[in-house]
Amino acid sequence: MQIKNVAFIGTGIMGARIAGHLMDAGYELTVYNRTREKAEGLLSRGARWADTPAEAAADADVVFTMVGYPTDVEDVYLATDGLIRAAKKGAWLIDLTTSSPQLARDIHDAAEVEDKHAFDCPVTGGEQGAIDGTLTLIIGASEKDVAPVMPLLECFSSRRFFFDQPGGGQTAKLCNQVSLASCMVGYADALALAEQSGIDAEKVLEVMASGTGGSGASKSLAPKSLAGDYKPGFLAEHLRKDIALALQRSEDLEITLPGAETAFTLFDMLCQIGGSRMGTQALTLLYQEEGTCAAAGLDWSLLEQGDEDGEHECCCGHDHGDGDHECCGGHGHHHDGDHECHCHDHDHEGRA
Ligand code: NAP
Repeated sequence: MQIKNVAFIGTGIMGARIAGHLMDAGYELTVYNRTREKAEGLLSRGARWADTPAEAAADADVVFTMVGYPTDVEDVYLATDGLIRAAKKGAWLIDLTTSSPQLARDIHDAAEVEDKHAFDCPVTGGEQGAIDGTLTLIIGASEKDVAPVMPLLECFSSRRFFFDQPGGGQTAKLCNQVSLASCMVGYADALALAEQSGIDAEKVLEVMASGTGGSGASKSLAPKSLAGDYKPGFLAEHLRKDIALALQRSEDLEITLPGAETAFTLFDMLCQIGGSRMGTQALTLLYQEEGTCAAAGLDWSLLEQGDEDGEHECCCGHDHGDGDHECCGGHGHHHDGDHECHCHDHDHEGRA
């Protein structure tokens, strides 16, 4: 199969960079994004704009999606005019979003019925990996299965892991995210201890880097935390979503993940007080004086208001007016009042 036309849906922090590498490699690109301005860079390089995902997919041999939440993935693929129906027979549908394993399986199965190929392919390596084209891909299919599209995957990745079954990529990605979340809490604790003890926090980071106390997160993100640079490479609200998805999975498995529970509490708090669109490294602000937080744009009174009203923005991205919604950005996990939700501390008897 000669692959020429590629569609890309979701041109945010990661998607725009990845799509750029596909253009560099000579593929003819059609793009769609909820907010058109974020696709302007690609359009000015010759990409074609489409008004809907269906229009973007109409002539595409391969369609990539890199949207925010599982609810977005569900809309783009499974809506009446979504990709499963709109893509050509034989087309490849590749979801790069960090999303729900169950949703990935549903999409794979629905695509198969329609004679299309869909697989989950979340990524790791951050914004810098997307810029450099050196992402690691975590693939919910076998190497043999995805061979026809391997040249496209190679345009923006340097390593690829195959988990051989639909949803396997998403599950492995969630494992990575719970480890990342605990590493972040670890370095935030360490920096707080150093600063409050009056010793040189930068030097403590060097100590950690030279021994076993350091992590990828403390190496790449802790210096930004120390410098007060909270610009997002990876949005805090997206890490909260990932931890919520992992906790949802742990509930299904009837296991506990204490590290992830702690990290969820902290990232949820950061999001509630105005840090949703900050980079994850803003976690360290939670350990700072209120004035420092306010100067960075956080407002602790929002947390109190949320507690008093019994309501605040949920991480699942749904309108909760009808009291029947999916939990934590996951899929097929309706609130029935008899499970503990990790999107925040509320009961689920029809209220958000
Ligand atoms: P982002 O900047 O928010 O990009 C997501 C893009 O998808 C936005 O431009 C958004 O539109 C668009 N979008 C959302 N729903 C859509 C829909 N239904 N139709 C069309 N476009 C839609 O986030 P990101 O950092 O690129 O992350 C994307 C995904 O990758 C997330 O799941 C994240 O967890 C994961 N991820 C991120 C990183 C990282 O370091 N940033 C690393 C690995 C994985 P708007 O422009 O209107 O918001």
